[in-house]
Amino acid sequence: QTVYISGVTGFIAQHIAKSLLESKNFKVIGSVRDSAKASSLVSNLNNNPDFEIDVIENIAEPNAFDESFKKYGKSIDFILHTASPFTFNISDVQKDLIDPAKNGSENIFKAAHLYATNLKHFVVTSSFAAIVDRKIAGDPSTIFNEKSWNPNTLEDGLKSPASGYTYSKTVAEQTIWSLAEKLNVGFGVTAVNPVLVLGPQAFDSNATKTLNTSCEFVRKLMQTKFGENIPDGLTGAAVDVRDVAKAHIMPLLDSQKFDKKRLFMTESPFSNQIILDSLNKVTGLQGQIAAGTPHKDDNLGNTFAKQDNTETKKLLGFEFTPVEKSVMDTAVQILKVQKEL
Ligand code: NDP
Repeated sequence: QTVYISGVTGFIAQHIAKSLLESKNFKVIGSVRDSAKASSLVSNLNNNPDFEIDVIENIAEPNAFDESFKKYGKSIDFILHTASPFTFNISDVQKDLIDPAKNGSENIFKAAHLYATNLKHFVVTSSFAAIVDRKIAGDPSTIFNEKSWNPNTLEDGLKSPASGYTYSKTVAEQTIWSLAEKLNVGFGVTAVNPVLVLGPQAFDSNATKTLNTSCEFVRKLMQTKFGENIPDGLTGAAVDVRDVAKAHIMPLLDSQKFDKKRLFMTESPFSNQIILDSLNKVTGLQGQIAAGTPHKDDNLGNTFAKQDNTETKKLLGFEFTPVEKSVMDTAVQILKVQKEL
């Protein structure tokens, strides 16, 4: 069976591709925009003959996926749409964040409907960004669950790169659900909505430089000095990348069960202090990096909105990896790779 993964060189997507190929039950075709990243993934996958690259330079261009899907169409059993910008380092919110997210979703979904005539299931990587309502997120009496939606409008989204990102993910997911309904598609559809995703890179060689946006939070804190003062920083919840990859794969194994579901992937809270507490348990970092005020954020989860993903956990049926392990594994890999250099 063949799985088409858009944005296969991404942090989460590489884990998905690696697992699918390791299972030996799937062939993978992955879209990329950067050939250097693609070649290094091909070599990390040991030139696996079940893996093929498909270059799509700009997913936001009208009909961006049509040529590919005309070519691969009938052979595609599953589509995982993970490609979407996750960066705040941009100059134009509309062009750099919203367009690729929204148009990319529309382009791949329409191409899937037209040309992937044997498609069984479509999974879109959405985000907690499409669930959260920032206005009430600081209120501990609020509960966010699989049914919650970010109410932001385009006008809100255009205010800053951060609000642009959350809007881009919201509108991208809405695009998928509304097209699925409008086109009355005959395949299953699932959204995966993770909070901040942490954990090691799928391959050690990816841990040599600046990491993807979410893992950079961990790498930056590894570069602090003992005794240094650390600001509170961004707070929220985190989840492990290996669990997020599994959540993309399980709907392929049971399309009916996961059809029309949103999988809210959240494990436990994070803050700079929580990450530092975990990093300070890693041999090689203890006593070298900032300690902050150990355990000051142990009750952080009670200070903001609750995240209820009972339905998701029931559907998936596996234990989520503790965030402490995600952070420690991220750090251990970085230390190992640095030593080898
Ligand atoms: P990455 O930045 O590693 O992956 C993003 C992927 O999207 C990459 O394949 C990237 O290509 C591709 N991409 C980004 N912008 C464009 C564009 N303009 N045109 C075409 N492709 C593009 O991060 P993640 O793996 O974390 O992100 C994967 C998905 O997960 C995204 O949809 C993101 O929104 C979502 N997500 C991530 C979370 C996290 O904390 N990491 C949390 C919630 C959701 P390239 O490899 O060439 O850069």
